[in-house]
Amino acid sequence: MRYDVIIVGAGAMGSAAAMHLAARGQRVIAFDRFDVPNDHGSSHGLTRIIRIAYYEHPSYVPLLVRAAELWAELERRCGERLFVRTGSIDASAPGDPVFEGSRRSCAIHGLPHEVLTSAELTRRFPAYHLPPDHLGLFQPDGGFLIPETAVAAHARLAAADGATIRSGERVLTWEERGDRVEVKTEQGAYVADHLVLSAGSWMADFLPDYAGLFEPERQVVAWFEIGDASTFVPECFPVFNLTVEEGRYYGFPEWGSPGFKVGRYHHLGERVDPDAVDRGVRDVDIEILHTFARRYFPGGSGRALRSSVCLFTNTPDEHFIMDRLPGHERVHVVSACSGHGFKFASVVGEIVADLVTDGSSKFDLSLFSIRRFERHTA
Ligand SMILES: Cc1cc2nc3c(=O)[nH]c(=O)nc-3n(C[C@H](O)[C@H](O)[C@H](O)COP(=O)(O)OP(=O)(O)OC[C@H]3O[C@@H](n4cnc5c(N)ncnc54)[C@H](O)[C@@H]3O)c2cc1C
Repeated sequence: MRYDVIIVGAGAMGSAAAMHLAARGQRVIAFDRFDVPNDHGSSHGLTRIIRIAYYEHPSYVPLLVRAAELWAELERRCGERLFVRTGSIDASAPGDPVFEGSRRSCAIHGLPHEVLTSAELTRRFPAYHLPPDHLGLFQPDGGFLIPETAVAAHARLAAADGATIRSGERVLTWEERGDRVEVKTEQGAYVADHLVLSAGSWMADFLPDYAGLFEPERQVVAWFEIGDASTFVPECFPVFNLTVEEGRYYGFPEWGSPGFKVGRYHHLGERVDPDAVDRGVRDVDIEILHTFARRYFPGGSGRALRSSVCLFTNTPDEHFIMDRLPGHERVHVVSACSGHGFKFASVVGEIVADLVTDGSSKFDLSLFSIRRFERHTA
């Protein structure tokens, strides 16, 4: 059988693409070498932040607005809770990109927000104890997504619309030949009109000439015991993205597992081979997160209750890659990570479906062009 689209990697992006393509009547087959969902890649760990006041660049905001609509639609369709609204805090010293960039995105896109001093933050959200000079931007539409449930929902609805989801089938190679793309897996050979590469931390396996654009990095998150649980409930604990002198951290209210979940962006800066990464958690991993919790969220700094290793896939400028592969009109590269991609998965699925079926997207995707890295490629 010839497919319309083969998808390599049915994680956050691949499962969303499968659902949107199948909903348009495309014959889709999506492969994942592990389960769908799984805890080997980038999309596990119970919670993922969604924040709209995007400090990284204002051009993400239109995508985020659409992503939020699509998450709500997915929630309605699958009948499970996928999003918890807490509001979001982007905080740093004045002049730092986190606070200034999020304020700029709000100003450009007219997003509702409030600016709070450190003392005001503590009065309103008692678990927060940030440095006295810090400013926090509170944006009421942020919150968190439930990643494993969301990936499963996308895959299930894709299958309901006729997509084939092959978990436990590893893709080995792909080749574009004339009007078709051929893919070989450990179990067989497949042909389609289009190929979507969404293999997360394994992207370099399929794009060796672009290997330098996809750098997997080991991350660790931990959950610490909470003293007064009432200060860590979603109603009075917005998710945060916060720069302090120790680095940039993110965290969540208590949800899905006991404890205050916290992580540091680019944790120890360990670039890794995704097939050989150390999935054990070491004392140094915990200590970095514990020190942060003790200092800025002391009510959530008891013993470590749980921890998890996960992978970022960093591009050199930490913006996504969503583009056709140069010289390969039928091949789409979808690598939305650098530690901040999950929240976009819903809209990335729609964008991929637009690119495959219409040849273009209504969004300005120039920030995500693979060609911006020409000097990094082989
Ligand atoms: C600790 C951590 C915290 C994060 N926090 C946030 C957050 O709060 N908010 C946010 O928006 N983002 C966050 N991110 C980033 C976000 O989770 C990722 O951007 C997103 O999950 C990436 O999705 P993906 O589809 O690219 O990768 P994945 O979901 O990992 O999917 C890739 C899939 O490809 C499969 N695959 C690989 N090779 C093959 C092969 N040869 N054959 C078949 N299948 C293959 C893998 O098994 C995998 O399932 C975080 C990431 C981490 C690690």
